[in-house]
Amino acid sequence: MILGNITKITGPVAVAGGMTGAKMYDIVRVGAEGLMGEVIRLEGDRATVQVYEDTSGLCVGDPVESTEGPLTVELGPGLLSSIYDGVQRPLPELVAQGGDYIERGTVASALNRTKLWSFTPNIKVGDELEGGSVVGTVPEGQTILHRVMVPPYMSGKVAKVVEKGDYTIDDAVVTFEDGTEVKMSQKWPVRQGRPYTRKLNPTHPFTTGMRILDTFFPIALGGNAIIPGGFGTGKTVTQQSLAKWADVDIIVYVGCGERGNEMTEVLTEFPELEDPRTGNPLMDRTVLVANTSNMPVAAREASIYVGATLAEFYRDMGYNVAMMSDSTSRWGEALREVSGRLEEMPGEEGYPAYLATRLAAFYERSGRVQALGGDEDRVGSVTMVGAVSPAGGDMSEPMTQNSLRVTGAFWALDTTLAHRRHFPAISWTKSYTLFLGQVRHWYEDNVAPDWQELRDRAMFILQKETELQEIVQLVGPDALPESEKIILEVARMLREDFLQQFAFDEIDAYCPPKKQYWMLKTILAFDDAATEALNRGVSLRQILELPLKDTIATMKTTPHEEALEMLPGFNTSLTEDIAGIEVY
Ligand code: ADP
Ligand code: MG
Repeated sequence: MILGNITKITGPVAVAGGMTGAKMYDIVRVGAEGLMGEVIRLEGDRATVQVYEDTSGLCVGDPVESTEGPLTVELGPGLLSSIYDGVQRPLPELVAQGGDYIERGTVASALNRTKLWSFTPNIKVGDELEGGSVVGTVPEGQTILHRVMVPPYMSGKVAKVVEKGDYTIDDAVVTFEDGTEVKMSQKWPVRQGRPYTRKLNPTHPFTTGMRILDTFFPIALGGNAIIPGGFGTGKTVTQQSLAKWADVDIIVYVGCGERGNEMTEVLTEFPELEDPRTGNPLMDRTVLVANTSNMPVAAREASIYVGATLAEFYRDMGYNVAMMSDSTSRWGEALREVSGRLEEMPGEEGYPAYLATRLAAFYERSGRVQALGGDEDRVGSVTMVGAVSPAGGDMSEPMTQNSLRVTGAFWALDTTLAHRRHFPAISWTKSYTLFLGQVRHWYEDNVAPDWQELRDRAMFILQKETELQEIVQLVGPDALPESEKIILEVARMLREDFLQQFAFDEIDAYCPPKKQYWMLKTILAFDDAATEALNRGVSLRQILELPLKDTIATMKTTPHEEALEMLPGFNTSLTEDIAGIEVY
């Protein structure tokens, strides 16, 4: 037993002497209440510990006992629909034990130990299994088939396998010849990425149903993106839309409350969300990790690793998982506070110098992989989307800058757009994606061969609009020639009738990729026909008098099937109508 005593305590950081034998990142129990902490520095027999719980009342001399193992999460059936705190303690249970607030030092099992799960084996005695091999399945919730896997780094020849039937997560379902048991649950240290056979190219898009993301700045399954934005610009609304609509199997949502009551909102709102595809609660395929405001900073620091590990576990089963973190800035602040208490040399704006490497290591855990266990077809992915909240929306600050260097897409929220109530307030001039070349083939094969051509052209028109706006500010719109006025008109359509998308609209909350394409094609068909008519000598006023604009404006709220049926014909008739305008 490694048992020492507190020699110093400052905020969430305690120093303990007499800790010979302790290792970095070992979990310790601090004080009489057994508060949970983690060793983050070792010097001789002195261990510096970040404590995950409120440290008030701790005194010099209080005991510190090492559990002699790192922070692990428990993985197994029952994770889906669970709500955990930053160190995987089940929140509803903690609240039940402690009343309105979480009692300090509470230990609660992450998974239900007595619940029976209906296990169906798919291996037999004599099979040679390796880490990651699937030994059977368990229906988890109504939609997800949980694949029970041999833990990584374990292997053997099957001596015994249970019959199909009901078992708890502590029952051995498979026993190897050497006596090793495989259960439905396993543990994994959160700071270590779970192993896989190999990383695959991310070629399949992560479709979101949001036009600005799918058409302009798409990412791939297994890719990563950040959503930076000032207060109230739409980070949380966007993340929740993605959770609801993104074409993935599993959602891991890590919330680090920004405002006092925000996490409470998430905790009450999330369980109410409906999965639009099945009508079941969205929680059926979601794990929620929530840092409530009464949990100290150190637990926030751990929570994103807990989330990443949960995501990797379902990836290993062969699922596509999306992990949202809202907001990673709160994690950065935790890192900064603990670093300050350690009296480390501060880097930019007080963040530790290792901020960049920590961020890189975190986003590195996203990816599309062939899972461990020799099964060629079991491919899964973790797509990561992290919100960043730069103070005052100033994107030059360290969290935004360091995050954008290690992620593949930048979905920049713009305060001006949000003020103008242009939602989603994602800037088309500041955002970018590095995944276009990887996902364009999918779009060209599955949506339309000219998908990228249309996208590039729309982006070009919006760019042109920005330039023209400057001139308009100087000389007024009337000074522009008709050929430029039409650019402004088409750009307006692109902004209002294509990019604007109300997250709470029954129909427009989600726009399928094919409809996105046809909406864009229609606006650009209008552009073509109008430009040609102007060249013939028709006036812009004549074109705008046609009742086409209304149909274009209502494309987004037209039910998808109906729109897809109507738009190809409308494209043709629109072109004919404009071509039919007589010059006078
Ligand atoms: P943040 O998390 O960045 O502080 P929120 O996501 O809470 O901001 O958004 C603030 C408000 O902006 C929301 O309450 C909502 O009214 C509006 N909003 C943001 N995005 C959208 C959207 N896509 N559609 C409609 N309204 C939105
Ligand atoms: Mg928010």
